[in-house]
Amino acid sequence: MPEQLTRRNLLKAATVISAVSAVGLTACSSSSTPQATASPVASPTLPKTVSNAEEAGQLVLQYAKYGASIGSYAIAGALIHNATGNVIGAVASNVLFAIQNRVNQFLDQAVTSGSNESFPFDPTAHGERQLTYWYFENRKKLNLPDPQDITLVTSLDPCAMCTGTVLAAGFNVGVFAIDPFAGINFNSTGTFVDLPEPLRAQAKRRFGYYGTQGGRAYVGGPSVAFSGTLANQSTLDDCYSVYKASSDNVLASRKGSDTDPSQLVDPATNPQAAAVISAYQQACPSAFSIKLANYRQPTPALHALLKKLRDTTPGAKSAAAYVDPFGNVLSAFADSMATDPVATALQNVIQAYSQTRFNLTNSSSTHDIALKSLTSAKYGTFVFLNAPSPRVATSFADLGAYGSTVGTKAPVLDPSPFQYFEPPLSGTVSELRKVIAAMPPLYSQLVAINPQPVR
Ligand SMILES: [Zn+2]
Repeated sequence: MPEQLTRRNLLKAATVISAVSAVGLTACSSSSTPQATASPVASPTLPKTVSNAEEAGQLVLQYAKYGASIGSYAIAGALIHNATGNVIGAVASNVLFAIQNRVNQFLDQAVTSGSNESFPFDPTAHGERQLTYWYFENRKKLNLPDPQDITLVTSLDPCAMCTGTVLAAGFNVGVFAIDPFAGINFNSTGTFVDLPEPLRAQAKRRFGYYGTQGGRAYVGGPSVAFSGTLANQSTLDDCYSVYKASSDNVLASRKGSDTDPSQLVDPATNPQAAAVISAYQQACPSAFSIKLANYRQPTPALHALLKKLRDTTPGAKSAAAYVDPFGNVLSAFADSMATDPVATALQNVIQAYSQTRFNLTNSSSTHDIALKSLTSAKYGTFVFLNAPSPRVATSFADLGAYGSTVGTKAPVLDPSPFQYFEPPLSGTVSELRKVIAAMPPLYSQLVAINPQPVR
């Protein structure tokens, strides 16, 4: 069950981080070695209730700083019950409450000879995305309020992936800092020209940008928690400045993780890579079951695998796969939206590929072979059974997830690394291209997503 696998990993890791944070803090504090990363911050103590925008801002700011302290980006969010101001997880559960970004994480010092080196963990592990997972995992068990009665408060404007996710989930969203590069309100107007209808109308109702003392006025819908209160301008400024500083720190501390494929050895034909193969097969039963002669030319066998995954996963509508630069299919899943309305096939694929790679790199016994065999998913090919649907929130989230996974300027390649066997389940590919062209600069300009049919 892919959704159980990936969510279990996310939640397990989050719990472990909370549990060990005090120990990590002590170890880092006593080290005399200058750190390329942000100063360690204690795992924040969470208030169970907040009563205005400023308190909500302080809450997510503290968790954002915590994100930087584990080697990731200083961005974080929390779920607030509109009627009571309760921080949802803090009241309902003692395990998980507000969540920081975990796109990168420090590797275990046993594999880095004691230095702080961060490594990509999961490009989909943004705070909003993880909070949404947690919500649907716990909604029934903890009798949580309905999404429309909750505000997801976030330190930084949601990216395309998180926007599609929270719109699909139905939360209100309260935002502090603007992100002019990847944020859905990148032009600060609150008009959401980068969203297709009907998502644009929904965002105007559900999103809100907090006003500040002496600064901007509140812009957004009426049902966002604390929309009638002001935050301090310094809180908003801090949300942005800690994020910017963390980006520099991630770059400075990141272990080389974008190895050019010409420097890699094919794990499928390398006897030393048995542990890589078995780890992927544990994460995804069909891993290494297909090898393409050309990694950019998906075959009828891959088409058949994706259809089989869709047809054998209850409630699934589509499927997707990741093919590495040697043509190995490393990760292939159907969507699991019958149990979690935001668990798309693509995001299941990205999570299984990335988290497995991190775990292999983070273990002494497999560290070296993982670095020799695996690289950034931007070098491989993503293959969809159906192209994303242009007006559907979860498809918009997928465009965002792909953009976050590639993350850097990509040459225009033909064939494209973003291919599909069949048309969208609703809408057309030409509409999809228009949606992509209107997205924030990260997606429309830097990554320049280019959907192409399999030839
Ligand atoms: Zn995001």
